[in-house]
Amino acid sequence: MRRKLIAGNWKMYKTTAEAVALVEEIKKGLAGAPGDTLVAPPFTSLVAVVAAAKGSPVAVAAQNMHFEKEGAFTGEVSPAMLKDVGTTHVVLGHSERRQHFAETDEGVARKTKAALDAGLVPISCVGETLSEREAGKTMDVVKRQVDAILNALTPEEAARIVIAYEPVWAIGTGKVATPEQAQEVHAFVRLRIGAVHGRPVGEALRILYGGSVKPDNVKGLMALPDVDGALVGGASLKADSFLKLVHYDKQ
Ligand code: PEP
Repeated sequence: MRRKLIAGNWKMYKTTAEAVALVEEIKKGLAGAPGDTLVAPPFTSLVAVVAAAKGSPVAVAAQNMHFEKEGAFTGEVSPAMLKDVGTTHVVLGHSERRQHFAETDEGVARKTKAALDAGLVPISCVGETLSEREAGKTMDVVKRQVDAILNALTPEEAARIVIAYEPVWAIGTGKVATPEQAQEVHAFVRLRIGAVHGRPVGEALRILYGGSVKPDNVKGLMALPDVDGALVGGASLKADSFLKLVHYDKQ
């Protein structure tokens, strides 16, 4: 039985004071949550958010990292640095990074492996653009992205990752995937994991859906058999809407 994970991606929003205030409010509303809760603040507030979340069920993720252990990479942050400040998870290969920072399938795969090597749980993102969907290429694109990640890992390593399926056309647009569209891709990804690393790995691994998840659509999405949680942007920036997602069973 896979536990659901509701993860908030705060992107490039919130000062340290705002980030701490948000996590404090989230903590107050967690009682009775049916699944796990995670927030991904910007690098600058990781230390403060980890301290504020300490002793609570809120896990803290970074939104990116470099795949090298250290070196002359100005402006970058290493896996060990994230671990050092108490981060437990890291979001990798978000479509905004693929689109605006030229991240490649190969780079995302290397980062996923490097995160595991450092003891972090990677939340590795995949998903097709609108033109790829309209051209009937959704499964080809998702297979290419997922395979790149899976082929960099052993079955034991693969069992420790989280995959987020985020159709690019649904991110920040208010256009959520229909339950049928989400379930179809999630089931496909799970089959693919099973084909590469064995069925038990496919069955154990959590696959999150991301793309305009809101309080009014979360319950239906979470009821889908292969959707194991949500990666949320906009609705994670305010405690009241994020807590409604965390309590998806009551919406
Ligand atoms: C995201 O940033 O990963 C995301 C899914 O954003 P939104 O929920 O705003 O669509």
